[in-house]
Amino acid sequence: MTTTQPVLSQRVQNLAESETLKMARMARELRALGHDVISLSLGEPDFDTPDHIKEAAYQALKDGYTKYTPVSGLPELTKAISEKFKRDNGLDYKPEQIVVSNGAKQTIYNLCQALLDPGDEVVVLAPYWVSYWEIVKLSGGVPVPVFAGVDQDFKPSPEQLAAAITERTKFVLFSSPCNPTGTVFDRDELEAYAQVLGQHDHVYVVSDEIYEYINFTHEHVSIGSFPQVKDRTITVNGFAKGFSMTGWRLGYMGAPKFIADACSKIQGQVTSGAASFSQKAGAIALMSDMGPTDAMREAFRERRDIVLSMLAEIPGIKANHPDGAFYVFPDISAYFGKTNGQVVIQNADDFCDYVMTEAYVGLVSGSAFGDPNCFRLSYAASEEQLREAIRRMQDVLGRLR
Ligand code: PMP
Ligand code: GLU
Repeated sequence: MTTTQPVLSQRVQNLAESETLKMARMARELRALGHDVISLSLGEPDFDTPDHIKEAAYQALKDGYTKYTPVSGLPELTKAISEKFKRDNGLDYKPEQIVVSNGAKQTIYNLCQALLDPGDEVVVLAPYWVSYWEIVKLSGGVPVPVFAGVDQDFKPSPEQLAAAITERTKFVLFSSPCNPTGTVFDRDELEAYAQVLGQHDHVYVVSDEIYEYINFTHEHVSIGSFPQVKDRTITVNGFAKGFSMTGWRLGYMGAPKFIADACSKIQGQVTSGAASFSQKAGAIALMSDMGPTDAMREAFRERRDIVLSMLAEIPGIKANHPDGAFYVFPDISAYFGKTNGQVVIQNADDFCDYVMTEAYVGLVSGSAFGDPNCFRLSYAASEEQLREAIRRMQDVLGRLR
């Protein structure tokens, strides 16, 4: 018997490929064909993991940490995370309120699976990190964007946030420092959000603070520290960015206990605990000297300044002044309608395709992040590569009329 039933589920058919990972793959493919590609598309620190963290993993392997761990994490790691939340963020999450996962991406996936029923709404501050949108959809939720463009420094007003909340809203989701904009929300801005959310006690907050340590303002504020939302905030963080541990796959959250238990139940059926030796090394990372992280942050700050001053010399590129993460997210709508005689730039996707095919510089279109007027450039690359990439962009953009 034959049937016309599609092999792939509706769920996966409705899912977009991760645009950041797609651009990184395209860069690899072009490189394999012999092109000199500079990929500024992936949000991955170009520094090595600090030695003392690697040593901790070698030691863990030698000590036999090669087995399953408790699903929510090794006790020494959940304790270290609980102490870190208190020390750095003024947050009171007990070890049993912590769940360690295979990266913050899985943390967010667990949360969406645990909290969303079909049709539930998630207010997503936009521009947003590309995977928020798709993970919410994958979990049956409806993402509701609250948008602020470059002229608002990519910070939606508290009034905009208030207007987006309905009876179906389950939680608000955002990152600060923000991927893709580099925007850092300050104490007053977060307090104003907390005031709004204080009036809607059915709404939870998922605060993604994975770029916490890459903040050039010297003050990182966690929205969960405000009394209005203290008991309804889930704070997400991870090791990938601040400790340059992207490949170790280690993320975590602090959450109300019943939510932590629900996420742990999901994770227990899907992947179990994160890698044992990654967890041992993670505990050391949180408890030791932050010197290497401070040095990375300083390097990122210098590169941000270089990138901003070079971009400022290209007509039609309008950037804000990002205070954190390692991205700039300029508005390039001034190029829409321009042509080199062969292709016409209609939108940010065309802009990024043009820069990739003509200059061999990999960027990511803002449409993947909810702002089709912008592109994202990751300056997690050497100063030499950044200078060369922006020189090439200047050249090919100068050919557009
Ligand atoms: N949140 C944001 C804002 C990110 O940029 C990333 C980057 N990958 C993640 C979560 C996921 O991080 P991880 O590598 O720990 O899964
Ligand atoms: N978060 C990074 C980025 O935005 C890594 C890639 C990914 O996980 O999507 O580029």
